Amino acid sequence: MGLQNKAASDRLNSWTVAKAEELYGVPNWGKGYFSISDKGELSINTQIDDKNVSVSLMEIISGMVERGMNMPVLLRLANLLDAQISKLHNSFNAAIQNSGFKGRFMGVYPIKVNQQHQVIEEITRYGAQYHHGLEAGSKAELMIALSMLKDPEACLICNGYKDEEFIDLALYATQLGLNCFVVLEMISELPMIIRRSRELGIKPQIGVRVKLSAKASGHWSESGGDRSLFGLTISEIIEVIDKLRSEGMLDSLKLLHYHIGSQITNIRDIRTGVGEACQIYAEIALEGANMQYIDLGGGLAVDYDGSKTNFPSSRNYSVREYCEDIIEIVISTLEEKNIPHPHIVTESGRATVAYYSILLFNVLEQCRVHEQPLPEKLEGNDIPEHLQNLFDLFKGLTIKNIQESYNDAIYYKDELYQLFRHGKLSLRDRAKGDRIFWNIILKITQFLKKIKKIPVELEELDTAISDIYYGNFSLFQSLPDIWAIEQLFPIMPIHRHKEEPTSQGIIADITCDCDGKIHKFIDLHDVKHSLPLHDLKPNEEYYLGVFLVGAYQETLGDLHNLLGDTNVLSVRITGQDEFDFVREQEGDSVADVLSYVGYYAKQLSIEFKNKVEQAIKTGRIAVAERRKIINAYENGLRGYTYFER
Ligand SMILES: *Cc1c(COP(=O)(O)O)cnc(C)c1O
Repeated sequence: MGLQNKAASDRLNSWTVAKAEELYGVPNWGKGYFSISDKGELSINTQIDDKNVSVSLMEIISGMVERGMNMPVLLRLANLLDAQISKLHNSFNAAIQNSGFKGRFMGVYPIKVNQQHQVIEEITRYGAQYHHGLEAGSKAELMIALSMLKDPEACLICNGYKDEEFIDLALYATQLGLNCFVVLEMISELPMIIRRSRELGIKPQIGVRVKLSAKASGHWSESGGDRSLFGLTISEIIEVIDKLRSEGMLDSLKLLHYHIGSQITNIRDIRTGVGEACQIYAEIALEGANMQYIDLGGGLAVDYDGSKTNFPSSRNYSVREYCEDIIEIVISTLEEKNIPHPHIVTESGRATVAYYSILLFNVLEQCRVHEQPLPEKLEGNDIPEHLQNLFDLFKGLTIKNIQESYNDAIYYKDELYQLFRHGKLSLRDRAKGDRIFWNIILKITQFLKKIKKIPVELEELDTAISDIYYGNFSLFQSLPDIWAIEQLFPIMPIHRHKEEPTSQGIIADITCDCDGKIHKFIDLHDVKHSLPLHDLKPNEEYYLGVFLVGAYQETLGDLHNLLGDTNVLSVRITGQDEFDFVREQEGDSVADVLSYVGYYAKQLSIEFKNKVEQAIKTGRIAVAERRKIINAYENGLRGYTYFER
């Protein structure tokens, strides 16, 4: 083996799964739940009876394939949801014990973050041991809570805009023995609550949502601050106190609530919010209200990129710090005013469910900027001048003149396109121009790898020549926040981690919408514009996963291009390499999504059959072919909306 070959093979051999873990940042964002096994497959780690166990995601995928379940699949891992609920309660309870705090921690789950039946069922089942409650922000969500929440100690928090029907149901919940709070979102709700509680003879538990002046930075900052949409101003709260006092109902006012936004990345914003809310709580208590609960809303962030910073997709604090800081501030603020410690409610949604779900999909195609090498010299007689210039540019390209050559290449390419538009360049010459241009770009990107200081203009050239991996999913249906607010999620291959990924790719979905792409990826320091990926192998599926998608993605998604709900699979890990398929929920069929936009399968079939009859009449098809064509149509209606192999 020659020296150079030896060096190359060493480099190959030195690829390890540890390097793959580092490349994709698994230990950073995975929080111990995810790792790469010696087989080079992504595995899920959890504890069963205090023993660490793991299951390979590829094993779960083969189980799906055997059962004939098609990609894309939204995989839910019940163990991870349970673990996150435990983590929140254990962290608060530890902070409570270490500080001598006298109240309790009463977590609630805000239904809007993921309303799916399986999710609420698991939260109420597993959360019962901690008296974990629910938060409802609309009538429909209240209906869910009223039927799913069985624990009389757990809190049921009613937020949101309320009509009489909503208020009546909340009052009945109290009458039935649930620990239900009607939280005033608007001052206009108060007279209705007073009137209906009198008429029904049910004593309400009232809360007020306050607009804090404290604000959190980030996407959702508008939830807080003086101009926030929801909640009462301080003077409105005084109005509420006076009104309740005059009605002899001040003892019904028991809870103070605020919510300054989701994904609060900076612990300082959390501390400021709690501090201000505690002062308000203390003052309301001093007014003579029967204050017992302080509800700090949501906001506990998820470290999607694993950077532990106040970057929008991260957070600069741990769950433990979050809990300790809250307890510390509540104690210090209230003790100064001699107010008894309240029970602390938080409405953590994102942090509770994000880890729970993974979107799995297969890659249908890898499309490369893959130009055939150029000949030594351009053939032909009448070579257009700019084409020859472009070719000479390629020939003369060296590491020393990349910036200048790049500018010139763009110039000549634009000139050629101009000629083409005016009918002065043939289709074949235009193709030659494209080929030379991309050869120049490829050569420049190869040079860029060798130089230390990359010119600013050329920084993103890598993205321009990234491969496009076509994924069998719809961004709009399954990952709406990538499209709507450019959220980042960890994305990586599920397998093949013993092989070094040698390509750089961006991901396109199958909607054929130019917005249906993922071209920003997590990075410890910034954002990456392409993702290291493996080359596709013939006759072998390549599976990618998008992680931490349990929060907000499912019901925000839409039916763009009529790609419907994906298949959903719930799995519970029961031991080392052991798991149960708990529940399978089939995704939308084509007929399902068509019915959402007003087409009915029966009617469509009738129309189609008429068309077939017509074709028989005019002799386009033989009668014997009728069955085959109609079957194809009807099978299509029953089929999955995604690409089926
Ligand atoms: C959305 C929302 C939450 C959930 O916030 P997360 O940041 O997901 O924890 C909690 N409370 C209210 C009032 C909300 O509107």
